[in-house]
Amino acid sequence: MSNFYNEPTKEELTELFCNFDENYKRIKEKFDNAVLKSGRKEGDVTLSVASKTVAPEILNYAHSKGIEVMGENKVQELLSKWDNLDKSIDMQFIGRLQSNKVKYIVDKVSLIQSVDSLKLAGEISKRSNAIGKVMPVLVEINVGGEDSKGGITPESAYEFIDEIKAFSGISVKGLMTIGPLSSQLSQNFEFFSKMHQLFVDIRTKKVDNVSMEILSMGMSGDFERAILEGSTQVRIGSALFGPRNYN
Ligand SMILES: *Cc1c(COP(=O)(O)O)cnc(C)c1O
Repeated sequence: MSNFYNEPTKEELTELFCNFDENYKRIKEKFDNAVLKSGRKEGDVTLSVASKTVAPEILNYAHSKGIEVMGENKVQELLSKWDNLDKSIDMQFIGRLQSNKVKYIVDKVSLIQSVDSLKLAGEISKRSNAIGKVMPVLVEINVGGEDSKGGITPESAYEFIDEIKAFSGISVKGLMTIGPLSSQLSQNFEFFSKMHQLFVDIRTKKVDNVSMEILSMGMSGDFERAILEGSTQVRIGSALFGPRNYN
């Protein structure tokens, strides 16, 4: 048994695969339309999945159907799935990360999206250096100013990036945000455009060791809008895998 996901029976798996196929078809169509409508082309925006609570067999299936990029948000959960995951999955880390757990994931993930403290950035740099790697990272922005979430304020982003750019074991590739919980849609739109503006402003500054290539925002309920506002990577969970009634 896993503490992090249901281990489906054979019969359940067949049904879950089928559900995924249906959901993916629908979501992919919306995704493709939003990308075109945003004035970009296929390949400019990444459809990544948030894989929390989903069993490795289903993630491997999703991968076989064309999902390249996945994001786990708990270190222990990632480790518990690791041996059973297809190693050609591009695995990223999207959740809150404690410095003392960085060592378990630096060899496994291709991007850490949730950097929000000097201490964490320093630890990622140190652990990545130790294995001869430069870890691409995103700075997490808490755009709604909610206490319950990780991330730094938009106002402190410049200063923070200026502080962490010197770490040789990381390379800042962009920004990530989790939209505010109170999903008053009109409110969300403002946050998305505010994030995009920040992303463009930082890019315009051309800071050494910092390239603004990835703007990771948009989830199941709002990914189309996020794409229209300039997101380059959406993270979709429940719309593809069904509601999370586990954990
Ligand atoms: C769970 C999660 C998502 C996806 O949420 P859904 O609403 O299920 O699409 C995206 N980003 C992060 C960081 C998450 O933890």
